Amino acid sequence: MPVTDHAIAAYLGLAIGDALGSTVEFMTPREIKAQYGLHDKLVGGGWLHLKPGQVTDDTTMSLALGEAILALGDVDALAAARAFDAWMRAKPVDIGNTVRRNLLQFRKTGHPEAAYSDHDAGNGAAMRVLPVALATFGQAEAEVRAACRAQAHVTHHCALSDAACECLVFMVQDAMRGADKNYLLHNHAHPLAARHPEFRFRAVKQQSNPSGYVADTLQAVFQSFFDTDDFRDCLVDVVNRGGDADTTGAIAGMLAGALYGMREIPAEWLKDLDAQTRDQCEAQARSLFSAH
Ligand code: MN
Ligand code: MN
Repeated sequence: MPVTDHAIAAYLGLAIGDALGSTVEFMTPREIKAQYGLHDKLVGGGWLHLKPGQVTDDTTMSLALGEAILALGDVDALAAARAFDAWMRAKPVDIGNTVRRNLLQFRKTGHPEAAYSDHDAGNGAAMRVLPVALATFGQAEAEVRAACRAQAHVTHHCALSDAACECLVFMVQDAMRGADKNYLLHNHAHPLAARHPEFRFRAVKQQSNPSGYVADTLQAVFQSFFDTDDFRDCLVDVVNRGGDADTTGAIAGMLAGALYGMREIPAEWLKDLDAQTRDQCEAQARSLFSAH
């Protein structure tokens, strides 16, 4: 089942990118170079003092969302909000400011959609879109977009975040269908940048030290994804840019996994990824994908 293989590779890619990038999160490329040379191993550490192969909120929020989707058989805002709230109560290793603020608001109001704000343009909704891509595979475009927004708006109700989330979901789905990189470039990445110039990633300078602003994040991810030819090079390139490296790593890993499949994921990284996380990602990818 080649499509299932690429779905699993996307999920493991997300986790591997998160684990690889978290070591150098908030470092500059210069600091990374001084400390690691080229950072390309799952060694843990970083500002969160992680164990080797340990993942952060990017992966654990995705898993929490995926569980909620599986429990209900559908992508639902209230179920997602409850799952994220339970996830926050379990004291995750890290949590974004916008996520925390809007989940605290959900606790007060019980309303699973944050108030609209152009300021909530962080990458916190985009980093956890993968379960939606898997669960809505094969559905009509309007349904896929609605599902993207239902999960995203729990914490990020913002046009730029929506545009990023939807673009990533369609890229993952088309990559799983066998689309090549050129197709993804011309049918998704360039059109996104045409609609929202914030996302332009060609004829602009290389994104170095990308922030948590979703446009900075996708700029780094797209530059690394489209300018490399395999899974490993893509992830090494993006995390060595530093900044929000666990999240650029997670998103790039998701795209690269969906595009290249399991065959391209380095055995060493698979072995070094936290074993429980690896099993959860694989099992959830299979369940979400076989649910339709
Ligand atoms: Mn993180
Ligand atoms: Mn991050």
